[in-house]
Amino acid sequence: MNVLVINAGSSSLKYQLFDMETEKILAKGLCDRIGIDGHLKHKPTVSDKKVFDEAISLPTHAEAISIVIDKLTSDDYGVISCLSEINAVGHRAVHGGRKFFGSALINDEVIMILEDCIRLAPLHIPANLMGIRACQIAMPGVPQVAVFDTAFHHTIPEHAYIYPIPYKYYEENDIRRYGFHGSSHRYVSAIALEHLNNTTGDTKLITCHLGNGSSLAAVKNGKSIDTTMGVTPLEGVPMGTRCGSVDPSLVDIIAAIDDLSIKDTMDILNKKSGVLGIYGKSSDFRDIEIAAGYDMDTGFDDPDSSPDKRARLALDVFCYQVAKFIGSYIVALGGLDALIFTAGIGENSPYVRRAICDHLKGIGINIDEQVNAVRAGDFLDITAENSTSKVFVIPTNEELVIARDTMEIIFNRK
Ligand code: ADP
Repeated sequence: MNVLVINAGSSSLKYQLFDMETEKILAKGLCDRIGIDGHLKHKPTVSDKKVFDEAISLPTHAEAISIVIDKLTSDDYGVISCLSEINAVGHRAVHGGRKFFGSALINDEVIMILEDCIRLAPLHIPANLMGIRACQIAMPGVPQVAVFDTAFHHTIPEHAYIYPIPYKYYEENDIRRYGFHGSSHRYVSAIALEHLNNTTGDTKLITCHLGNGSSLAAVKNGKSIDTTMGVTPLEGVPMGTRCGSVDPSLVDIIAAIDDLSIKDTMDILNKKSGVLGIYGKSSDFRDIEIAAGYDMDTGFDDPDSSPDKRARLALDVFCYQVAKFIGSYIVALGGLDALIFTAGIGENSPYVRRAICDHLKGIGINIDEQVNAVRAGDFLDITAENSTSKVFVIPTNEELVIARDTMEIIFNRK
């Protein structure tokens, strides 16, 4: 059984083809600059097949999918012999609104509900829908499943998801905290639970998904009870280019300073803020850590560098805010068994993990500095002996969650 996982953005489409008997990836790739000019990077994992990494015309998502299928089935680049070897498609769907508590087999009703959710995620859902329609055209009859970023957080209690604004916006317009990165929080919290060996069933985890977009979740007994992102992925900790939680009056104030519309002001908060806004030159944490004069391997000061103050400040703001949310989630959980770091920054930056955990020493959380500098690429326990809670680094795998859910929904297989 092979499952094709699709993550469609407005001008990009990422894919991975899984063999679900082994859960191994047969090929993966990225269609970039769709609707602009087009570029495809296609990478088979089968040894005698070639990588394709070239500009190629990609006018629409439908044409992108059809070129991906050509590559997957071609003699030189392919890993399957024909289209019928794709048994199902799983789509990452960013927002499920108040309707979806779990993954769903895509049919006309699901598409109608997704269309209704566009008002909650106007940038993301139209792109998801383009990916779904493109697959329906290219692979008629192949079952498709939508896996929602918001679904894992449906267990958040009312007092954590209701905003203190007039209640009618919740009742009439579905405005509430939804949360995102659900597949990632779900995946790493399940792995952490396996490693905790806690048989009481009473577990308290905080999962930190730190990537270009970052969010934290408080996970009690395997269920999300709070998360930092809100009705949109703008809320919470500062991110690469997003401001995270700030005084909402800033919208009015910035609009007045620069004579901007609300839309243009929101663009600043979404695309020009976060660590990019503070540092000014890049949103990429590797660039910022190097500019700040930290050794990428150890996370400590690089003695040969001349640190850029704003790069250091950007990292300080980020790590402080993450630590502050961790503190608040220890309150929400009533304690902490394990703190988990995942995603591009959480998995790869010894500096960020150490700087966050430095803020947590006062509440007994300590990491082993030497183990923290190990680049494992796999599960890593960085807990120090004197720590009151475990601290784990766990590589996330959102695509595998999507592929597994797709199998479960279509073939009733776990
Ligand atoms: P996305 O949200 O796009 O999936 P990722 O989870 O891939 O993002 O995370 C991307 C971020 O991870 C970037 O800011 C990148 O700089 C950062 N990152 C990747 N490797 C490292 C590293 N070795 N040290 C510090 N940051 C890293």
